Amino acid sequence: MRKFGFKLFSTNLRTAPSLIRECVDAAQAATDLFIEVMVMPETTPDDLRELKPLFKDVEIRLHAPHHTLGFDVGDPQLEKHNRQTFETVRTAADLFGSKTIVVHPGCGHGREALNETVRQLKLLDDPRIVVENLPVIDDGDGKELLGGTAEEIRFIRAETGYGFCMDFSHAVCAAATLGRDPIKHLESFYALTPTVYHLCDGELNRNCDSHRHYGDGDFPLGYFLKNLTAPDAYITMETGRGIQNQNDLWMKDYAFLKALL
Ligand SMILES: [Zn+2]
Repeated sequence: MRKFGFKLFSTNLRTAPSLIRECVDAAQAATDLFIEVMVMPETTPDDLRELKPLFKDVEIRLHAPHHTLGFDVGDPQLEKHNRQTFETVRTAADLFGSKTIVVHPGCGHGREALNETVRQLKLLDDPRIVVENLPVIDDGDGKELLGGTAEEIRFIRAETGYGFCMDFSHAVCAAATLGRDPIKHLESFYALTPTVYHLCDGELNRNCDSHRHYGDGDFPLGYFLKNLTAPDAYITMETGRGIQNQNDLWMKDYAFLKALL
């Protein structure tokens, strides 16, 4: 059975506790919902212990911080900081029983940067890590990112032994930048047998990770779901830009995807 995930941030503990409650209640009432939590760098082990009972028995999956949050495994200067940040994520995974931790490859371009990303990912040393494919260029800050092609993800996986999280929108962005066909680009990633997926709507021919709600873009979502996700996929609904305050639009998104299957 495919499962669908709400995307929460660990800081929702203070900013939107009612959103946590709404998501937990919805997930408890269904058999195919889970919650992916982005562990923000400012979160402390005490915060995590406070969060744990709020999640009740809902399945939790985790995401480590992004480069925009100061975590970048492509930057040798940040090695110590990255490792410290990851310790909180590891603690969260232990506490919540998360089977996977999504980690982004680092910023940069080329073989040297790729080797640095592999070196630091290995140092994090956690079998729960699933590496996510990224756009080639971040549409927000213009930075070059690793993991824009299946070749780079295949290399990272071969070197580290970690799993793979396939982000549809990131792959579409990368295809636009590289001048490749977006569907073929997605198929090249799907061949790497992802177990975890990130899905939003967007525009097929643009490098713009717009996190649109389903139906607000031109992604062939039914085709994506049926042909490019495994039957036991964990699919996080990455819809709505930034941090949300209530989950009514996510419930609509969940119903939208279910109707496509
Ligand atoms: Zn991500």
